[in-house]
Amino acid sequence: MTATLAKSIFVALCLAWYALRIPHQRKARKTPISLDALDRRERLRLGISLSGLGLIPLLYVATGFPAFANRPFIPALAWLGAVLAIAALVMFRLTHKALGRYWSVSLQMREGHKLISEGVYARIRHPMYSAFWLWALAQALLLPNWIAGLSGIIGFGTLYALRVGPEEEMLLREFGDDYRHYMARTGRLWPKLF
Ligand code: SAH
Repeated sequence: MTATLAKSIFVALCLAWYALRIPHQRKARKTPISLDALDRRERLRLGISLSGLGLIPLLYVATGFPAFANRPFIPALAWLGAVLAIAALVMFRLTHKALGRYWSVSLQMREGHKLISEGVYARIRHPMYSAFWLWALAQALLLPNWIAGLSGIIGFGTLYALRVGPEEEMLLREFGDDYRHYMARTGRLWPKLF
């Protein structure tokens, strides 16, 4: 593993993620939105996350900026990053498959919205966020730069911390006891094992 290969794997992760998302975005758009929480705060959260997971690391890969924050490249860590990047993509694919037309970039409910509790959602409530955490970890391991590497953890961590609570409140309001029971048998990011 070389630093160039590690950077290429990160770019491939971004491209593959985008290619996975486009068809679902099209499908979801056809189902009208019945409740939209895409306010200014949510846009800011999304912007911070996109910068951390995409804009900052891609700027680094393209230009080498900010070079003052470079760290030594460690091939073993980059290999682990490559494995986590593949795990993130597999998880993304499974979440999009299970959520189908109820997927949205923001906190939204769609017409006829059903509670999904099958597939990858059977034991984890937020598997798409698990996938983004895997991405953020992969980024930190693949990119030998403190700022470009850690910006994913900081950017997505901010979105996650500010959003998962309101998202669960919204789903509790919509689905009531069904969601309460679902919460009792699932973990947020990791299966509940007991
Ligand atoms: N937090 C989830 C989904 C992210 S997409 C995850 O990490 O996998 C965001 C949208 O998914 C939200 O607007 C919400 O309406 C919808 N959503 C989240 N969990 C859901 C579930 N179990 N069933 C149906 N829709 C869900």
